[in-house]
Amino acid sequence: MTRSSALKKEKQLRLARNTSKSRKIINIVRKNTRELQNYFISNKSQSTSNEQFTYKTRTFTGPSCQKLTDFLKQKGTDDNNNIHDYYQIIHNSFLLQLMKQTVCASCKLIWNGDMSVAKREGLYCSLVFTCCCSHEIKINTSKQCLNTSKRDINVRSVIGANFAGIGHQGLVKLCAILNVPLPIDDDHFFDTLDYLLPTFESYKLRSMKNAVEEACKKSNGRKITVSGDGTWQKRGFSSLHGVVEVLSNGPTAKVLDLERLSKKCSICTGLLSIKYSDPKKYSEIKNKHQCEVNHVGSSASMEVAGIHRLFARSKMLYNVKYAHYIGDGDAKVFPKLISDPPYEDVSITKIEDVNHFSKKMLHRLQKIAESLKKTNIDGKLGIRGSGRMTKS
Ligand SMILES: [Zn+2]
Ligand SMILES: [Zn+2]
Repeated sequence: MTRSSALKKEKQLRLARNTSKSRKIINIVRKNTRELQNYFISNKSQSTSNEQFTYKTRTFTGPSCQKLTDFLKQKGTDDNNNIHDYYQIIHNSFLLQLMKQTVCASCKLIWNGDMSVAKREGLYCSLVFTCCCSHEIKINTSKQCLNTSKRDINVRSVIGANFAGIGHQGLVKLCAILNVPLPIDDDHFFDTLDYLLPTFESYKLRSMKNAVEEACKKSNGRKITVSGDGTWQKRGFSSLHGVVEVLSNGPTAKVLDLERLSKKCSICTGLLSIKYSDPKKYSEIKNKHQCEVNHVGSSASMEVAGIHRLFARSKMLYNVKYAHYIGDGDAKVFPKLISDPPYEDVSITKIEDVNHFSKKMLHRLQKIAESLKKTNIDGKLGIRGSGRMTKS
């Protein structure tokens, strides 16, 4: 085999592998989406007692949740067995080509006309094909979600942009490059997000509960090993918002619980503008609103406070205890878990993670090497050099 044909074969193999890999990803995403849809439907009668995680017990989000459930229920019965239940990206010129191969129902001649867009909402539009005999055919490019004015494709685009982590701006760019119309504007984008949030909150809780049960199964009991971590909205320890989470242990670590910590509330801040001009309204809204502030103290202390909070509620939330903690960079978390134990009958043990352990080890070895620099060992100064301790 010549070198070029070998290269060609290798390229083909690589392409084949890539294809199967991407197909695998598509199948996983498709399965998860289907699961999510099924969950939306089956979730209807499921109630959760923990108000912290569900919007269902809050009356003001009830209708949204119901709407989404209804919409997906309708979808589920309609399309579960429909092999054509997906979108096609097709250039307008091909649609026109297709029309020109049909016979007009009105003038009975080969269709000859033009197309126009009668209405557009984000990625959805209503197309009109007008024959030269002025006969019109109208088609919609996406279904309307039941009991709402939202279109299926627009809801999907919002979910997709969030799953991909690109947000509205990213979605706009993607659409521009794909040469498809712009998505819904940012106001509608965030409206749709609010509309979807209750369902995602419930889904999140179910997913985390499953992860906890998985971890319990692995550790043969309800005392499990977890790791914890925190992240901030902004770097540099001045962030007003942060998130902490505990994860299960193992090669496929899953989030078991998480908490947002905020030092500032957007409603409280907004209210300041009417504090003196309309004190009555100010105190009325202030007393009624659900304040976002749930952390006082420095941004750096968010991780300690947050992880301690997650430990403290594990029993109530999942009936488990996080008995072993895999420490990460924040050295203050574990001492807090010891000085203010979240469980009466379990003292938490710390497991050092490999990354941080090796970093510490390296640091200490370097320190020893530095301190022995001027000491004569076996006729040489220090312990460094070839045949002795090297940097690699
Ligand atoms: Zn016609
Ligand atoms: Zn507030």
